[in-house]
Amino acid sequence: MLLELEDVRVHYGKVEALKGVSLQVDEGEIVTLVGGNGAGKTTTLKTISGLRPVTSGSVRFDDRPISGLAPYRIVRLGLCQSPEGRGVFPGMTVMENLEMGAYARSGRGRPALRPDLERVFGLFPRLAERRNQAGGTLSGGEQQMLAIGRALMARPRMVLLDEPSMGLATMLVTQIFDILAEINRQGTTLLLVEQNAAQALRLAHRAYVLETGRVVRSAAAADLLDDESVKSAYLGGDVEAGVGEGDGDAEGGGDGDPSASSVP
Ligand code: ATP
Repeated sequence: MLLELEDVRVHYGKVEALKGVSLQVDEGEIVTLVGGNGAGKTTTLKTISGLRPVTSGSVRFDDRPISGLAPYRIVRLGLCQSPEGRGVFPGMTVMENLEMGAYARSGRGRPALRPDLERVFGLFPRLAERRNQAGGTLSGGEQQMLAIGRALMARPRMVLLDEPSMGLATMLVTQIFDILAEINRQGTTLLLVEQNAAQALRLAHRAYVLETGRVVRSAAAADLLDDESVKSAYLGGDVEAGVGEGDGDAEGGGDGDPSASSVP
């Protein structure tokens, strides 16, 4: 097991955002967290990457306790987050942003960057074309690619992805998800939070359903895609259409599940 959360509780002041979350991710897996607004998905990722302290419970990565470690030390262990809202450095070029990703890398004698750049540019040819352009001038989709590429530069064993499809046109969403599948095939474990639950469940091997800070279900992703209660709560009852079929795949049905599918 690569990542394990056991009975994790997290507070924002007096508000208990995670009420005893337990989950596991095995090496090589893609796991997704599904849930409505405020369920605790983002908090779970932030807690894993060391940005939120746990009140109680444990987070272990590769059999080491990591709760309480500074975020940069967690990155050095091989666990990187590609944050919600992308967070690229707007004044730095694409190249410089990618170099920053490698900076966090562990080990003496930092290996040359070239193979990593080649890998990222292989996955995202668009970034190669734009390598000298400032991050802030990229389109939303390109910034998302850059955020993912930057995380990969640290040669992580596992990447946490928060809403990689947010604000992207449907065609780009499909592209990003294809690339995530390829990144996983190349050996990187993924934990994914995504409003676009249908798309996430198609990509993932397994999923956890979170409701108000608790895991209420865990199952094979394919089983959840077929599950009537999950369909009506999180998938807008429209799994077949998915993304790529034009407008608002996740509209209707579930409340609090604004599809991130339509803004170009
Ligand atoms: P969304 O899809 O809306 O981002 P989420 O499942 O990611 O939802 P979280 O953002 O993890 O949910 O929020 C979990 C709970 O913690 C919510 O009740 C939320 O109001 C609360 N919360 C999140 N961030 C803060 C904060 N900075 N201060 C106070 N409460 C917060």
